[in-house]
Amino acid sequence: MGISKETILVTGGCGFIGSNYVRHLLKTSPSAHIVVLDKLTYAGHRPNLEQEEKGGRCEVVVGDIADGKKVDEVFEKYRPQSVVNFAAESHVDRSIDEPAPFLHTNVAGTFTLLEVTRKYLSGTKGKESEEFRFIHLSTDEVHGSLEPKDPPFCETSTFAPNSPYAASKAAADHLCRAYYRTYGVPTIVLRPSNNFGPYQFPEKLIPLAILRAIAGEKIPIYGDGKQVRDWLYVEDTARAVEAARNKGCVGEAYQIGADAEKDNRTVLTAICDLLDQLRPRSNQKPYRDLIETAVS
Ligand code: NAD
Repeated sequence: MGISKETILVTGGCGFIGSNYVRHLLKTSPSAHIVVLDKLTYAGHRPNLEQEEKGGRCEVVVGDIADGKKVDEVFEKYRPQSVVNFAAESHVDRSIDEPAPFLHTNVAGTFTLLEVTRKYLSGTKGKESEEFRFIHLSTDEVHGSLEPKDPPFCETSTFAPNSPYAASKAAADHLCRAYYRTYGVPTIVLRPSNNFGPYQFPEKLIPLAILRAIAGEKIPIYGDGKQVRDWLYVEDTARAVEAARNKGCVGEAYQIGADAEKDNRTVLTAICDLLDQLRPRSNQKPYRDLIETAVS
């Protein structure tokens, strides 16, 4: 007898963390069949999952998590055992320029997914409903930002979102808790710190710095560069999501951190020093010379 199939609905699976998670899941869970629901915004790249789609255990459905009819259809067709919600508008600067898409996807979209899940679970019983998990990716930015001497955030840190992005993620985080407390939807909320790694959209700090440096262009640094982030490798986030899905307590929220707090200037100079070793500039000057304070 073969291994019984487990269907996992991964929203936003064509983005940075989602696509890394899909790869991790296919490698580590032989019974997993993955359905990706992704709107393919500017941040979603179907080619990120090209090989995985060819493998036959990963299907991509193009659609919006805020479209209740579409989400209903996906639940009806695939009957998932878990939902892992990565779908989001995720770029802070874009949320300052135009907040509406953030409210649409991060708040209305998460609400729609929770509502469809609630109705879906009301029609299930036994193992099917007991083992179902709704994993939601929140962010440590719901707690605001860290100053250089601040202790790391923890699960009980207060909510103090500083951008429309963080505020929309805070609303979704609260909705997940409320759906567990009110309706018993088995939600688990994860609050990772800043991720880095392969397939990240090149407008984020690390890939932007690498690409600019290699092109010999200025590497922008905002303010004094002392903004502290806890840098987390994306594969570690994928492992944490699986740990939460398999062993986490429903109704709980978990921080995911790497205990690797570094300010932006330290990160950028480390990248420059590595590039000096790996790919010296033709003019022999250090890459650090390219770091320049940007006017925001
Ligand atoms: P990303 O921007 O790279 O990817 C987001 C994905 O969601 C894209 O594939 C996009 O097409 C899809 N999407 C956007 N709107 C959608 C909608 N309405 N319906 C369906 N799909 C939609 O984001 P990421 O960096 O991979 O982040 C994934 C999740 O993790 C997000 O919820 C983000 O808030 C959270 N998070 C990210 C970080 C980080 O450092 N990247 C840190 C903490 C938390």
